Amino acid sequence: MLSKKTKTKYTEKKKKSKDPKVTFMIFDKWCKRCGICIELCAQNVFTDDEDGYPRAVKPVECNLCGFCITRCPDFALRIIEGAGTNTTV
Ligand code: SF4
Ligand code: SF4
Repeated sequence: MLSKKTKTKYTEKKKKSKDPKVTFMIFDKWCKRCGICIELCAQNVFTDDEDGYPRAVKPVECNLCGFCITRCPDFALRIIEGAGTNTTV
């Protein structure tokens, strides 16, 4: 049987792994809603909102490959390491 300490440690670790690893900054003013970032992300991090802007719906899946940032034609996307989800500017 697992000790209380071990269980607590395991639960904390599990909780942490569900936390987003990154903060997404999406500059709506610059974004032309081309959908490139949505299509290119192999981790399916993004989906488009009702207005067609990309939103990171699965930030925890991001592996920081940087593909979406380098392929965005309008420099409308930024990713910052650390907890968080979406920040629209
Ligand atoms: S950095 Fe890579 S994994 Fe993360 S959202 Fe962009 S394309 Fe997807
Ligand atoms: S690739 Fe850039 S311009 Fe195109 S939808 Fe994504 S953030 Fe907007």
